[in-house]
Amino acid sequence: METSTRRASRIGVMGGTFDPIHHGHLVAASEVAHSFDLDEVVFVPTGQPWQKKDVSPSEHRYLMTVIATASNPDFTVSRVDIDRDGPTYTIDTLKDLQRERPDAELFFITGADAVAQILSWRDHDELWDLAHFVAVSRPGHVLSTDGLPSDDVSQLEVPALSISSTDCRERVRSGEPVWYLVPDGVVQYIAKHHLYRSRA
Ligand code: ATP
Ligand code: MG
Repeated sequence: METSTRRASRIGVMGGTFDPIHHGHLVAASEVAHSFDLDEVVFVPTGQPWQKKDVSPSEHRYLMTVIATASNPDFTVSRVDIDRDGPTYTIDTLKDLQRERPDAELFFITGADAVAQILSWRDHDELWDLAHFVAVSRPGHVLSTDGLPSDDVSQLEVPALSISSTDCRERVRSGEPVWYLVPDGVVQYIAKHHLYRSRA
């Protein structure tokens, strides 16, 4: 007798500015996908992040994210944030993704630095109904989920990669290599489009 029922798909959501995307982002997504038995991780480049200035044009950040994730069949990239006008808030990201995939269970992936800020995010008390949150370790930041609802937030230790987009941008600006910090195609994309050479 056929007794199996299909479980809801489990979708990771990796939000970020990705200016540029680097191997710290990719390892975090891969580790959470493995540990939480996810079917897919959707990378969501932000539109205009409300806390950051001088961010590269969203189409560059989107294309670098596509290039970096292209070889993984379980990684996809969404335009929901870059196609929405105005500053990006995670509450809107999750609502849009839930509308697109009403049957999916969402897992929002965030590094130790970002999770420490969640209580300052817009409508943070509504976030927990939309997704389970997975906070991953990040070098230089203490991983703590104190003050967050324990049923809705998990912690995961991931291999420590001391890489940040800020450091990658500084390296390009000062002529230092970013090989092996970001995927090869992203190194070439940065060079081709002269990104991070000077910033107004
Ligand atoms: P920037 O220096 O411009 O802020 P970033 O390296 O912090 O860039 P973001 O795009 O801001 O990258 O980060 C997106 C998400 O990825 C955040 O949740 C962040 O905590 C997480 N993240 C970034 N780098 C790492 C890393 N090396 N290890 C684990 N998580 C990371
Ligand atoms: Mg950051």
